[in-house]
Amino acid sequence: MQEKGNISIHTENIFPIIKKFLYSDHEIFLRELVSNAVDASQKLKRLAALGEYTQEVGSLMVEVVINKKKKTISITDHGIGMTAEEIKKYINQIAFSGAAEFVEKYKDKGEDQQIIGHFGLGFYSAFMVSKKVEIDTLSFKEGSEPAKWICDGETEFEIKSSKKKTRGTTITLHIAEDSEEFLEDARVQSVLDKYGKFLPIPIKFGTKEESVSDGKDKDDKPKYKTIKKDNIINDTEPIWTKSPKDLKDEDYLKFYKELYPFSEDPLFWIHLNVDYPFNLTGILYFPKLKKDLEMQRNKIQLYSRQVFITDEVKNVVPEFLQLLHGVIDSPDIPLNVSRSYLQADGNVKKINGYITKKVADKLAELFRDDRTGFEQKWNDIGVFVKYGMISEEKFNEKAKDFVLFKNTESKLFTIEEYKKHIEANQTNKEKQKVVLYTSNEDQQHSYIDAAQKRRFDVLVLNEILDSHFINHCEQKFEVTFKRVDADVVDKLIDKGEATTSVLSEKEEVAVKEVFEKAIDNKNNSVSIETMATDDLPVTITLPEFMRRMKDMQAAGGGGPMMFGDFPLNLSVAINANHPIVQKILSAKKDEKKVDLAKQAYDLALLSQGLLTGKALTDFIKRSVDLATK
Ligand code: ADP
Repeated sequence: MQEKGNISIHTENIFPIIKKFLYSDHEIFLRELVSNAVDASQKLKRLAALGEYTQEVGSLMVEVVINKKKKTISITDHGIGMTAEEIKKYINQIAFSGAAEFVEKYKDKGEDQQIIGHFGLGFYSAFMVSKKVEIDTLSFKEGSEPAKWICDGETEFEIKSSKKKTRGTTITLHIAEDSEEFLEDARVQSVLDKYGKFLPIPIKFGTKEESVSDGKDKDDKPKYKTIKKDNIINDTEPIWTKSPKDLKDEDYLKFYKELYPFSEDPLFWIHLNVDYPFNLTGILYFPKLKKDLEMQRNKIQLYSRQVFITDEVKNVVPEFLQLLHGVIDSPDIPLNVSRSYLQADGNVKKINGYITKKVADKLAELFRDDRTGFEQKWNDIGVFVKYGMISEEKFNEKAKDFVLFKNTESKLFTIEEYKKHIEANQTNKEKQKVVLYTSNEDQQHSYIDAAQKRRFDVLVLNEILDSHFINHCEQKFEVTFKRVDADVVDKLIDKGEATTSVLSEKEEVAVKEVFEKAIDNKNNSVSIETMATDDLPVTITLPEFMRRMKDMQAAGGGGPMMFGDFPLNLSVAINANHPIVQKILSAKKDEKKVDLAKQAYDLALLSQGLLTGKALTDFIKRSVDLATK
């Protein structure tokens, strides 16, 4: 038997195109060929299980062998093999048309389009690294003739009979000069490790020399001999393929260490397992989150039937879930399509929804069954939960019952608990519940102190996402948030109860004038407020809305342009009831009045850490003078 033919179907010469456009990801040829070998083996296993193949199955190990002398790599399986007819059909027609279609679709997209590499060209990717490829195969079908296919990387192929005696297929690649890196053991090993670590059929690559005990020698000393051991590169039954009821915590932790050798133990995990309406298995771990959220990404590995595809799960997993670690395995995620298509894909949407729900359910369960444990983990999962609530409505719906708020006494509340907690004392005259919070307990200490004197509760909201989260809560939970330094304490929660001022209108005007002179900054607005005598003489605040604008601006882009690089418009509130005001009024010299006002203002700045440079030096000098006078 000998036959020659031409495989150019759509494109004159597909091979140079394959080479050129897949340049950045040559290594995937090995994933494709090993996957094909595994598929062929799995098929045989299934046929045997169904009774359609009754002969001895034997070992189904797939072998990858490098021959440095001949400059070849071969991949051998003991799967179903192919007849000459099947080679013509599957390799010459189907595989080739697949490759042609692929090249046609992506040849204009350039190399930066990362689509390439997330899935392969199938069999023809072999030509990315080879100048000649041979298939030597014997079908499992009784009475089959072994067949050989040779293609030199031009457009011609040749099919002839072969001497192959054993069932299965050997693909031999004659490696091209520019791809000789793939004749190095370490290179091939690393590619196999990357893509094949969890393939369902054992993959053998190279041999390992191992020293084993060999009894005792004549002097009764232990003797060793060196044996050659098969070097199986993969774990054919990774734990995500098993049933959760057969697994212990140790198994999950061990697997985590295998995936991320130098990581801290995860907090907990979720075993995903669904087969309708799509197929998905996997394990998602909750890591201890670091401050730098970006660093955490790309830790979820995407597999398709145990073949590694990518660790860029951007379009497959909702953004907030990308902070998790672990493995997702689904043959239902379309890998051979572009990204925009992937986003619109119905299955991908369903998968997103499913994972989101699972994660929310797991958190709800932890909260319900072990509140103390949940609270202990809150520091680590808080950011994640808030991120999820902000970005996914469905997650928000579930998480609103377990998201926690911590106050300055480190007590944790759910939103409902907290509303009850503040209802009596923190409802303003418009019947709104006002939540007070601090973003920095040290810097805002004097304000927290003032609020606590009024028996107000103060939450600590000091994480990266909190300013967004506050907006979110206001929209969803019917509460108003105010930072403790947004106004003088009595105005933070305006209950409509006026404290009477001891100053006459004329005195107020006089005091205001003195302070305006002392402060000497047109951007700040001075007001006289009636506060308690033990409140600070001067309080500097930044109105809530203005601070949020500024925060948004700092966060990049969001803020309106009119603020430009705006100077802080601080509100300076003078406590009319403070004794220092009387002292100012009764001072004889104007100079003395202004000095006192300056001193009171500087103290307010100082309590906020805003007093620096010359102003600080002046303050110290003035303080020394006042103390020694
Ligand atoms: P795909 O694997 O996506 O179908 P490929 O181009 O990789 O596309 O392969 C085309 C076809 O060739 C396969 O579907 C299969 O029928 C056949 N084939 C490839 N490799 C083998 C193999 N090692 N053993 C048996 N059949 C194979």
